[in-house]
Order: sequence, then structure tokens, then C-alpha cells
Amino acid sequence: MRTVVAGGGSVIAGGGLAGAAAATRLAQGGARPLLIERTAGAHDKVCGDFVSTEAQAHLAALGFDAGRLGGHPIGRVRLTAGARRAEARLPFTALGLTRRRLDAALLDHAAAVGAEVARGVAVRQVEGKRLATSGGDLTADALLLATGKHDVRGAGRDRSGTIDRLIGFKQYFRAAPATLAALAGTIEIVLFDGGYAGVQRVEEGLVNLCLLVDRARFDTAGGDPMGLLIEREPRLARLLGDAARQLARPLAIGGVPYGFVHRADDGLFRLGDQAGVIPSFTGDGMSIALHSARLAADAVLAGATPAAYRVAFRRDCVRQIGRATALQRWATAGVGRRLVVGGIGLWPGLLGWAAAATRVPPAALARAGLGV
Ligand SMILES: Cc1cc2nc3c(=O)[nH]c(=O)nc-3n(C[C@H](O)[C@H](O)[C@H](O)COP(=O)(O)OP(=O)(O)OC[C@H]3O[C@@H](n4cnc5c(N)ncnc54)[C@H](O)[C@@H]3O)c2cc1C
Repeated sequence: MRTVVAGGGSVIAGGGLAGAAAATRLAQGGARPLLIERTAGAHDKVCGDFVSTEAQAHLAALGFDAGRLGGHPIGRVRLTAGARRAEARLPFTALGLTRRRLDAALLDHAAAVGAEVARGVAVRQVEGKRLATSGGDLTADALLLATGKHDVRGAGRDRSGTIDRLIGFKQYFRAAPATLAALAGTIEIVLFDGGYAGVQRVEEGLVNLCLLVDRARFDTAGGDPMGLLIEREPRLARLLGDAARQLARPLAIGGVPYGFVHRADDGLFRLGDQAGVIPSFTGDGMSIALHSARLAADAVLAGATPAAYRVAFRRDCVRQIGRATALQRWATAGVGRRLVVGGIGLWPGLLGWAAAATRVPPAALARAGLGV
């Protein structure tokens, strides 16, 4: 365990994309932030690994080229619900790239540009701008909370009104050539009763299956819910039934508060999932995390308050979180599910509309100093 330096300056709790991006931006702006990340090295995360074009633009603006990490380019989406299928071009090219690779590389980048990165140190409690960590206590001038899906004691999130009954699973597969061909350049979203799955290629010929399923269905699914879902959903069985699993056990996460937007004035700069949580099907959570990091770091560098940062975050991100949450409620219900697939089959432009309506808008990116 590493002893963290004592007090002062900007301290960032959490070294996912939001934390690492904020550390990078602060260091590039002349500060020397301290970032505290509880994991000691690169690790997998429950995530679809769909890196949107907006996320790539944010990374590029930090001097970080995600393209060099070898991800799989994705320019089409295929939607499946039972026997119905629809396909459309995405209005952008995304990247399929593992979080294990992306997050570790961005943290290295933050350290290379001058941030102090303390890995293997956990924040145990937050009290105002004081942190108790496994490496000692410290007080920050500005505290940026970027612990993602995980709440820290003393700084919990208000989950009222959010959808938090879904459980997320993720597994990597080494698949047959036919599956790799079917998924070339394409993300496939499979809607099923009680949830949905995203299947796409990532680097090194691997396939990511990430799914969200209602807790009620999970309870009845028995010991291997992901295996059972693959068996029961003909499309998943066709794609992945014979594929070799790469993780000894699927990763799982419960209680993600979809639709959450932070409102209270607690004196903290909350970034990423600590600021707002957009439903996963949009593939835009990483871009919101990076956008929030940029807004927060710029606010800290300019001496602005957390309240002023929160106003900017809400202006740029609250609408698409609201729209995506409404769409998620509707599209995972039976009739909505059939309408989504039927509608997109008839009019692929709907997909472009849905994609644009649930992303960080170009005007917000331009205000933050980047264009896509
Ligand atoms: C099922 C699912 C699928 C998704 N798919 C996609 C997708 O395809 N595309 C997309 O753009 N978004 C997707 N998302 C959303 C995306 O994963 C998040 O929005 C994004 O990871 C948020 O980044 P973050 O930095 O806020 O949090 P995280 O990436 O969760 O990072 C938080 C970091 O904080 C660290 N940490 C936590 N607690 C502590 C502590 N106490 N002390 C120190 N460190 C701590 C963690 O170890 C972690 O490294 C998905 C989410 C889910 C749940």
C-alpha cells in the first residue's frame, strides 16, 4: 500500500475515465493533482466497451489517441427482438475497445503529463473535503469525486426516481469465424423480455457480451444467468453458443441508478457516474464521464465553485439522460420492444434521431472547446 501525500491541491477520488481525464486536464493546465485509485493495476469493468465518437474526441483533446490501442471500428447497429431484426448505419464510427486497456492507458497518460497517480489506495470515507484513505487522511482544496458506480461512505447518491433494479453482466468470448464476420463493424443489440444485451467485437478478435437484466428475471434464472440467457435467446445462442469464455466468471454489477443526476450542493465536484448515469444502450456513458471531467477541471483551474460546475453539467447532459431513461423504460416493455425494432426496420432515420437525442450534443462539445 502506498502512502498518499498529505493535503492541499486538487484531489481526485477514482481513476476511471472521468478521474483520469480530469487529472490529465488539470495537469495540462499547470496544476499537480493527486489521483487516488483503489485498484493496483489494469482491470476489467462491466461495460459494453463501445467508445463513441464524442468520447474519442474528448480523449483526442487530452492528447490521447484511442485509435492506437487497436480497437474494432463500429459503424452499424443491428437490433434484434425475437424473430424481428433491423439494421442501420450509425451516424458516426465508434470503437470497440476494452476498458481494461483504455482506462489503464489513460491513467498512464495522466501520470505522464504530470498528475500524481496513487494506485492501490482506497478512499474509505469523505467528510466535506476531507478524505480517509487506506494510505492516510488528507484534506483537499478541491475534491473531485469520480468513483463511478461505487458510492463512498459519507458521499452517497440520492437514487430516488432512478431505475436501479437491473443487473449487468459482462463476458468476453473467443468466437467462431462466422460470428466474427457477422459482427464485423457492427454492434448488435438483442432486446429480450426483462432486458437487453449488446454484442460487439473489441481488440484482438475478442467479442464482448454485456447485458442488463431485470432483477426479477435474474432471481429465477438460477446459478449461471448469462449462460441461461444465451441458451434461451436464439440470436445469442447462434452467435455465442459455442464460443469460448475468456473470464473465469462473468463480471456482474447491480443497483446502477439509471437516470440519476446529482442535484445537491455538497461542495464536491462529482464527475462521471457520480454526476449523472445514462442508460447503457446509448453507449454514451464514457463520453458523459469525459465531458464532466473537462467541465470540472476547467472550473477548478478557473477558481469556479462546484455549484457553477453543476449548472454547466446539467446544461450539457441532463436532457439526454432524461430522454434515454424514458426510452429505456419504454423499449424494454413488450409493445415498445416490438415497435422499436419494427420502426427502425421501416425507417432507419429513427435510429439516427435516437442516437443524436441521447448523446452529448455538438453545441456542448463546441462550448467545451472541441468539435466532432
Ligand atoms: C452494463 C453497462 C454497460 C455500459 N456500456 C457502456 C458502453 O458501451 N459505452 C459507454 O460509453 N458507456 C457504457 N457504460 C457506462 C460507463 O461504463 C460509465 O458511464 C463510465 O465507466 C463512467 O466512468 P467513471 O470514470 O465515472 O466511472 P468508472 O469507470 O466506474 O471508474 C470509477 C473508478 O473509481 C475507482 N473507485 C471506486 N471506488 C473507489 C474508492 N472508494 N477509492 C478509490 N477508487 C475507487 C474504481 O476502481 C474505478 O476505477 C456502461 C455501463 C454499464 C453498467
